[in-house]
Amino acid sequence: MTISQDLFTRAQTSIPGGVNSPVRAFNGVGGTPLFITKAEGPYTFDADNNKYIDYVGSWGPMILGHNHPQIKQAVLEAVENGLSYGAPTETEILMAEKVKELVPSIEKVRMVSSGTEATMSAIRLARGYTGRDKILKFEGCYHGHADSLLVKAGSGALTMGVPNSPGIPADFAKHTLTVSFNNLDEVKAIFEQYKDEIACIIVEPVAGNMNCIPPVPGFLEGLREVCNNHGSVLIFDEVMTGFRVALGGAQQYYNITPDLTCLGKVIGGGMPVGAFGGKQEIMDYIAPVGPVYQAGTLSGNPIAMAAGLKALELLSEEGLHQQLEAKSKALCDGFQQAADEAGIALTTNYAGGMFGFFFTDANSVNSFAQATECDLERFKRFFHLMLEEGVYLAPSAFEAGFVSTMHTQQDIENTIAAAKSAFAKL
Ligand code: PMP
Repeated sequence: MTISQDLFTRAQTSIPGGVNSPVRAFNGVGGTPLFITKAEGPYTFDADNNKYIDYVGSWGPMILGHNHPQIKQAVLEAVENGLSYGAPTETEILMAEKVKELVPSIEKVRMVSSGTEATMSAIRLARGYTGRDKILKFEGCYHGHADSLLVKAGSGALTMGVPNSPGIPADFAKHTLTVSFNNLDEVKAIFEQYKDEIACIIVEPVAGNMNCIPPVPGFLEGLREVCNNHGSVLIFDEVMTGFRVALGGAQQYYNITPDLTCLGKVIGGGMPVGAFGGKQEIMDYIAPVGPVYQAGTLSGNPIAMAAGLKALELLSEEGLHQQLEAKSKALCDGFQQAADEAGIALTTNYAGGMFGFFFTDANSVNSFAQATECDLERFKRFFHLMLEEGVYLAPSAFEAGFVSTMHTQQDIENTIAAAKSAFAKL
């Protein structure tokens, strides 16, 4: 029995499923989750002292690699002055100014402690601002686990096969309309049906919770136009794509300006941080200036702000995101070539520092339906073979992969070599 197996057995007696977030339990791939003891640069180490090249990166935040010395230093310095005050600090202003500089559509921003809080607050704000109840989301997009948003959701909800969780009153869920990602005709049709009852569209501009699916040309442009025509708020959930797909997020990469943006993951440098921001006119609807209530005991926590601010400063280096994208491309091209040589049907997607691969005959995957039709059994076997080769991929076919600035050329080559040997055994 490995130490991870032992810990997992013990964990299950006092933590539901042994984990504090469902996908960690490996229920998408079977087997025992690895219990991690430390992480450094592009590597994680488990309780049995195995070393892995890590493409999970704590599900996105670790874009600068694990345990970055300057982020660690910023945290240690902040800790000297106390852990939390529940009162304003100058670091919060610096953080807000930095976010505005990097994401110009954000004129004002509010900090929260998770991506879920960011999206939950943004839709409340959109509803309060427009005076409308209905929201539109896309099947397979995950926006955290707030009641209104856990309808036909991706990520763990998809892995678990519970797109609609018990515990969400039908009276809430009925206000959440869902259509297909990358299908503008369905968006237009539903707006035709509900006319001006829709408060907002919320979208992952690159879907990363049903594997990795970039928007088809014209899709995001079309959403912008529909929102303009109907007085609806366009919300980009950039919790995953923010500061990752490009320094200014997917909105910079695709050159589309949303009204509100949700941020998370990278913005905290590994600490629990989320944020939502956008047009001043909308943001000023938030308490204490406006009537829409939103608050948080630990919001803007000084340690979290110090880590996040340092991460954003480090990420602002010229050319860094081009290098990240080059790594995503190298991985995807390498996987593709190795699969072709082995006669394995595979296709890949990437955008900036995120990537995905699909076991399918299709030449490209750009819809939720296609993502769910892929060979999941083959993915499971591949996942475990890669683990044996020392490569830690997301333990689900419905999650994007992440590269960091710390992954070296050699790491990428080793990963492709591992994939080659895994494909040979599939
Ligand atoms: N939105 C997106 C696009 C996400 O990927 C996630 C988390 N994977 C969330 C929201 C929720 O963030 P959190 O887990 O920090 O609550």
